[in-house]
Amino acid sequence: MKIAIVGAGWAGAAAASQLSHQHQVTVFEAARQLGGRARCVPNSVFGHPIDNGQHLMLGAYTQTLQLMRKLGINTEQAFHRTELGIISADAQYQLRAKALPAPLHMAAGLLMAKGYSWSDKHKLIRLQLALQQQQWQVPPQQTVQQLLQQHQQSHTLIEHFWQPLCLAAMNTPIDIACAQLFANVLRDSLGGRRVDSQMLIPKQDLSTLWASHALQHSELLLGHRVQSLIPTDMGVQVDGQHFDACILALPPYDCARLLEPLASTLQEQAWLQQVQSVRHRPIATLYWQPRSPWLEPEPLLMLHEQPHKQHYGQWLFNHHAIPNSFARNLISVVISNAGDASLLGRETLAQKTEAQLREQTQSRSPLPAFKQHELIIEKRATFEATPTAFRAEENTFWPAIKLAGDWLQNPYPGVLEGAVRSGIKSAQALTKQP
Ligand SMILES: Cc1cc2nc3c(=O)[nH]c(=O)nc-3n(C[C@H](O)[C@H](O)[C@H](O)COP(=O)(O)OP(=O)(O)OC[C@H]3O[C@@H](n4cnc5c(N)ncnc54)[C@H](O)[C@@H]3O)c2cc1C
Repeated sequence: MKIAIVGAGWAGAAAASQLSHQHQVTVFEAARQLGGRARCVPNSVFGHPIDNGQHLMLGAYTQTLQLMRKLGINTEQAFHRTELGIISADAQYQLRAKALPAPLHMAAGLLMAKGYSWSDKHKLIRLQLALQQQQWQVPPQQTVQQLLQQHQQSHTLIEHFWQPLCLAAMNTPIDIACAQLFANVLRDSLGGRRVDSQMLIPKQDLSTLWASHALQHSELLLGHRVQSLIPTDMGVQVDGQHFDACILALPPYDCARLLEPLASTLQEQAWLQQVQSVRHRPIATLYWQPRSPWLEPEPLLMLHEQPHKQHYGQWLFNHHAIPNSFARNLISVVISNAGDASLLGRETLAQKTEAQLREQTQSRSPLPAFKQHELIIEKRATFEATPTAFRAEENTFWPAIKLAGDWLQNPYPGVLEGAVRSGIKSAQALTKQP
């Protein structure tokens, strides 16, 4: 078959990797780089490329890791793997899974955690046990906040454990975030095997790490934004070229733009409206180049977000502590749900976040002066993972057109594993069709 894939993000690349051995695959990508939201971008400030945003994977990203290994990627070299840890930059809180078989790794980590009272540790363990007992199923429509209230989690636990975890995993605040999606992430990480709960920080830039391998057997048309799709009796025309089938591996707003002219029946239009209803949240990543290496040994620290001080930083990545990291001379700070932070203006946000870092790392090895910084704000970083968010299926009303992307139906919020799973599923749907 002659197959077009529109979009070279992780979903499109996963689909291409499945199809390109047996079919003739052409990938159309609007940008000049591969990888979509998780890609490497040129940078003039540091003199070397950086990622479009700091990414972290979990050992629980089984399909992504499996596919990477199948593609010949040495995942042990490609990532810095550490035990799940929530270590606050100000050294007040410290919870780290122990090198023990599951579930002891988490239980021991929780019992030995610093900063949380015994009552809080008890509440954390009780919540995990309750979720396990109910097979990680929560009432439909429940939000993360309601789940935490139902299980009497304290203010400290919410502020210094659940909220940062929920924002990191779902890029959606706890009062509207979907409890079921959060429970799924917890089930596959905290509730899984020890390796599943481990955190994987990429040591290579994201385009080198993944897309270049996954897309090696496909024809690539970079800088080509597809403008028109016309279903035909024989397949589909993509910008006038004939293909037997195509996969739109695009976020909902780009899908809707291409499919709008095709939606003629009431049913098709109603479906399109649901696609258009998907909302998004921004993520900001600040990168700094210190004048000398920061000697702090922890690669990942949790920051205390204090909006009243305009301190919005949530997680701090210290690449100098990651052997062979491509970004070894950089420190990065992630701000999920960055709507308020981005209102500050770029320079103020950088200044305030630097002040936050200096204030909260005082008890650690001295943070060197910074030479220069770069701020990347991805306005539509992920879809808003609420209980009512619309998640499409791979099949569409037009048999030769399939969909793929992190926002399609899968157990996860908007993350790499969801994108890869959906790419694989979409490739299967396409080859299975009569
Ligand atoms: C800053 C940031 C931090 C993140 N952190 C994490 C993290 O730590 N862990 C994690 O798991 N996930 C993280 N995510 C989410 C993750 O990046 C996404 O879930 C994933 O990249 C989505 O992949 P995708 O293939 O579904 O979509 P995209 O990556 O959006 O791919 C779609 C592609 O289609 C192209 N395109 C659009 N329209 C057209 C057209 N008409 N013609 C041709 N091409 C077109 C786009 O240019 C894009 O390359 C983060 C996202 C951001 C932005």
